[in-house]
Amino acid sequence: MLPGATLLLALAVSLPPPAPSPAGGTDPGGIEPRLTIRESLDSYVVSAATEAQLRARLKLDEDPGNHGRALTEGRFVVTRSIVQREGRCEVEDVTIELDIHTTLPEWTPGERVPARLRDTWDRFLAFITAHEERHRRHLLDAAFAMRDRIAAMPPKARCTQLEAALKLIVDSEDRKRRFADRMVDRRGTPGPPE
Ligand SMILES: [Zn+2]
Repeated sequence: MLPGATLLLALAVSLPPPAPSPAGGTDPGGIEPRLTIRESLDSYVVSAATEAQLRARLKLDEDPGNHGRALTEGRFVVTRSIVQREGRCEVEDVTIELDIHTTLPEWTPGERVPARLRDTWDRFLAFITAHEERHRRHLLDAAFAMRDRIAAMPPKARCTQLEAALKLIVDSEDRKRRFADRMVDRRGTPGPPE
């Protein structure tokens, strides 16, 4: 399933600059973005007593290329605290937050379920878990790339320039991520193993 993602550029309140540090302070142009990643996992119960029911519940026959009733969702929130001061934009803080939520199916085979069906399920679950892991990896890669590119941004004279540069980085990394997701989904996932 195509992962959903929300992209949010939030503006934090500009705070007054901290008092000059006796140690000389940090690099005036340097930005050290903070990256926070939160992950959560959910499952929903599939009820099936036979292979036919299992296949029907998971729609395996309708859509052989489907990688299952699973979903990986991501949400980026980038906040920054910046202030325009005498010909340059001072950055106090940039924070990148990424929330990842994955939903996978869960099935508890009854006692009468044949071993072959259990094996089919095990392979199927491994398959869709690996698929969702690809989407999760894309989200993480985007977050790390945002952090590294923001850290490498040269100082800006004006905060409007900084805003534009930040937006460009966030948008382009998210676009790359969505493209990578589409490639994974389009590649014709081989379908659940028989
Ligand atoms: Zn997918």
